[in-house]
Amino acid sequence: EEESSEGKTYKVGIDVTYPPFEYKDGDTYKGIDIDLMKAIAKDQNFKIQFEAMDFSGIIPALQANQLDVAIAGMSITPERKKVVTFSDPYFKAGLILVVKEDENGIKSVNDLKGKKVAVKKGTTGAKYATDNADKLGFTVTQFNDSPAMFQEVKNGNAAALIEDYPVISYANKQQNLGLKLVGDRLNGDNYGIAVLKGENEDLMKKINKGLANLKENGEYDKIVDTYLK
Ligand code: GLN
Repeated sequence: EEESSEGKTYKVGIDVTYPPFEYKDGDTYKGIDIDLMKAIAKDQNFKIQFEAMDFSGIIPALQANQLDVAIAGMSITPERKKVVTFSDPYFKAGLILVVKEDENGIKSVNDLKGKKVAVKKGTTGAKYATDNADKLGFTVTQFNDSPAMFQEVKNGNAAALIEDYPVISYANKQQNLGLKLVGDRLNGDNYGIAVLKGENEDLMKKINKGLANLKENGEYDKIVDTYLK
């Protein structure tokens, strides 16, 4: 039967604007999340198919049963835990403020009064910005993907952006964005793989088992080193 869990191909939501975790290279998806999810599926003997979408569409797609799983550099947060079940954490990240390389007036979030801050819809960065905009006196503009947000600051249309530090440090070097990271990290969080709460619980057990196996047998480190050496 098609419905038997043996034959099922799980649909995995990804955000391909997010190197080194997920990106498109020609027709192939690459990155830490992609390799990790493939390796977990192989270790635990289940089939997957990646579905690329805007980050802000991923949790709604899980809720609409259009996806079974999500791996998208997604931070484990208390708000999201009301809706999804996260795997054990697989990568330590956190938010950082980013400005143009030649910007010397902004050294922390306390220097954002009267400025425009670019963020990506549905992210922890967007939440940080909207939660602190009134207090710190800045305005927020939201973008669908990370490249559009980076461009806004590069062009000088926004004074700053907020992004996960492993992602922006990688993109800034690889793509010569001419941006710089300023101030202390605004939080510390961890990435997790997600399924809809109350669904796919057996699959989540396999994901955690696979993740633990890959950490133990060295394959996890090998995957991370491929992209972040
Ligand atoms: N880690 C951030 C979050 O979970 C950003 C993820 C992303 O942009 N793909 O909101």
